Amino acid sequence: MTDCTLFTGAQLTDGSIVDLLVNDSRISWIGPMGQCPTSHSSIISLAGHVVTSSFVEPHAHLDKAFLADRITNPSGDLMGAIRGLEAVRSTITHDDIVDRAMRAVQLMSRNGVTSIRTHADTTISGGLSSVLALLDVKNRCSHFMDLQVAMLLEWPVTGPAGKEHQALARDAISAGIDVVGGCPHLDPDPRGAVEFLLGLATDTGLPLDLHADENMRSDSSDLEHLADIVITENLSHQMNASHCVALSTKSEIDIDRVSEKVAAAGITVTALPQTNLFLQERGVSSNPARAITPIHRLQHAGVVVAAGADNLQDPFNLVGRGDPLEIASLLMVSAHVTAPEALQMISTNAHQAVHGATNSLSVGAPANFVALPAANLRESIAMGPPDRIVVYGGVVLDNQIRNRK
Ligand SMILES: [Zn+2]
Repeated sequence: MTDCTLFTGAQLTDGSIVDLLVNDSRISWIGPMGQCPTSHSSIISLAGHVVTSSFVEPHAHLDKAFLADRITNPSGDLMGAIRGLEAVRSTITHDDIVDRAMRAVQLMSRNGVTSIRTHADTTISGGLSSVLALLDVKNRCSHFMDLQVAMLLEWPVTGPAGKEHQALARDAISAGIDVVGGCPHLDPDPRGAVEFLLGLATDTGLPLDLHADENMRSDSSDLEHLADIVITENLSHQMNASHCVALSTKSEIDIDRVSEKVAAAGITVTALPQTNLFLQERGVSSNPARAITPIHRLQHAGVVVAAGADNLQDPFNLVGRGDPLEIASLLMVSAHVTAPEALQMISTNAHQAVHGATNSLSVGAPANFVALPAANLRESIAMGPPDRIVVYGGVVLDNQIRNRK
């Protein structure tokens, strides 16, 4: 008898009830309940569970996780959070980052996440401390989590003042980061910053993930400038733009024009509604904008739009539970997407943004899935039930496995 496990009675998101056979680390058969033609060595019942591809967190800041009670952000906005963090950065040690990041990784794993892209502060005052700590975390959790570390390069990266940051970026690449990233919208020369960071990514062959247009100014154009360069130079490179909330302040004609360019350039976009609703439009009482990436218009143009949580209980977002279903629920309320669309954004689309290819619950695919105790998909998003069954590489994860190493 082969060493394989039959997961029985799983409800797919379309309501059908199936069995799944997992052989080694892959799904080898899916079909009607009770009709698996192959022998199996063990059976696990998923009766009463909705089963979906595991979740992907496309945009985290694990080096900042759980700092909410140690840093103040009196203004409550983005710059207040940045200043608050900078004031205490010298007190944050390697072990401190590792401990908090591992707590966050384990929390997300219990909630059904099997892949995370985390950004790592790369600053003059902190040097490579976040990069090195998160590369350490990547190694510690590799048996239950696929973790990518993206450089989040401090600004400016342009002009004479940018030379020191450019050198720091090269050090981070030498240290082994997986993804190039930065914040063009905070640079005195946003267009120059886009060009520098894109050049760094294409020169090294690493994917690019920008914090793009994270403001509510209609003239902010990081995303459009990136798409223009990619189209003009006919580049083929894995690229993601995170936030892009300024796009929602433009006219519908301009949103559609930019969206069509982004689709043509093959850039994925990651919406981060929880943190942007927290940070943007502080103190605006009359007609505050929602600070939501224009998901529908981007998707209409053909852009793959993912969604993530961004910050987890830090000065950039005091709340958050490390649960993609919390983000899916928020998307349904604030961005008016359907339950299946919300699920796609936190699973298959997020996988595309992080890995450059989609994932699915299909024969031959890696056995990475989550079983949610709920009557249907909508209820699972609404309730965010605990006690989820999380399968990574064919293995049902438990805390003993997660605490190994
Ligand atoms: Zn971020």
